Amino acid sequence: MKKIKIASIWCEGCSGCHMSFLDMDERLVELINKGLEINATPITDLKIPDDDTDIGLIEGAVATDHHEEEVKMMREKCKFIVAIGDCAVFGGIVTMRNYIPVDELLRRGYIETESTVEGKIPTSPELGKHLPKVKAVNEIIRVDYYIPGCPPSADAIYYVLNEILEGRKPMLTGELLKYE
Ligand code: SF4
Repeated sequence: MKKIKIASIWCEGCSGCHMSFLDMDERLVELINKGLEINATPITDLKIPDDDTDIGLIEGAVATDHHEEEVKMMREKCKFIVAIGDCAVFGGIVTMRNYIPVDELLRRGYIETESTVEGKIPTSPELGKHLPKVKAVNEIIRVDYYIPGCPPSADAIYYVLNEILEGRKPMLTGELLKYE
């Protein structure tokens, strides 16, 4: 049986889309029995996808330079890129910060909050640098399939992965296609 390798990352998101992925429950085992092999995700210890990964799931919007690097790395390593959830598909709730300059945003978050005493804006190079505007994944790389929703249902995720595994092109319709 040919293995279909899948990897996932989350950028600026809440992990809710990955929770929906796990909500596939026993259908995840069904997909694994059909050949799906999870080679890297934030929900395992394996974080770097193999170079010949078939499906790359991306949750979250692109909000920092690190996210930009990560989505480009996914594009290089994965045959199909699937943007999962509203944040990845069109920026979603994360774009609310696009109306506020980044320095103002950081000052408010780390220094001026009512509960903060002697706050400091973190400057470690380990942390990504905020982009002036949050972007959808397809503003950085080509995306093959989209699963909108906040989060998308486990049914929608299962449908898309199963179609790709079966060699078909997924077309979300009806109840599976949601923007919320
Ligand atoms: S789309 Fe919704 S559930 Fe998914 S990462 Fe964004 S906020 Fe979270």
